[in-house]
Amino acid sequence: MNIASVVYRLRGALLRIEECLLQAAGLDRQLVPALAVRGSGPMAQLPSEDQPGEHPSGLLDSILWMAAPKKRRTIEVNRTRRRANEKLIKVQTNIEPCPECGHLKQKHILCGFCYAKVCKETTLIRQQIQSMEGGPLRAPATETVVLYQGETPRQTDADKRIVELPRKRPAWFSS
Ligand SMILES: [Zn+2]
Repeated sequence: MNIASVVYRLRGALLRIEECLLQAAGLDRQLVPALAVRGSGPMAQLPSEDQPGEHPSGLLDSILWMAAPKKRRTIEVNRTRRRANEKLIKVQTNIEPCPECGHLKQKHILCGFCYAKVCKETTLIRQQIQSMEGGPLRAPATETVVLYQGETPRQTDADKRIVELPRKRPAWFSS
C-alpha cells in the first residue's frame, strides 16, 4: 500500500463524512437546487474558514447566490427617480395663523396649541372637583359652573354645581 492509495482512501472517507454531515443538516447535495435556496434560517450560515474538506464548487457557496442587479444604475437615473414629481412634498396652501394664539395651523382644524391649553385647564378643573367631592368623577345632572379667584356666583348659578379654583381666570377662558 503506497502513499497514493492512502491519500485516495482518506479523501474518500472525508467526502463520505461531508456527505453525512450535509444530510444531517438537511442540505443534501442531490436534493437542493443550486439557486433556489433562500438565505434565511439556521441553514444560511456563512461557510466558515476552518471547515475541513476541499469542495471548490461546494454547496454552501451556492446558497449565497441571491438575486442581484445585473447592471449598475447611474446616479442620474437614481436621482431622477428619487426626485420624481409625485415623490416631492406637496406645497401646503391651507395654512393660516390661529386667531386665538397666532400659531400656524391648518384651516378647518383645531389649533393644537389652543387644544393643549384647554386640555391642561380641564385637567386642573377635574383635579379640583376630585379634591372637593372625592372618589371617581361623577356626572351630576346639574350644570357645573367654574369660578376662579375673586369671582362670585351669579344669581342664575344658584342651583348649579360650583367648582372654585384658587387661580386667576385665564384670559382665553370666557366666563
Ligand atoms: Zn391657537
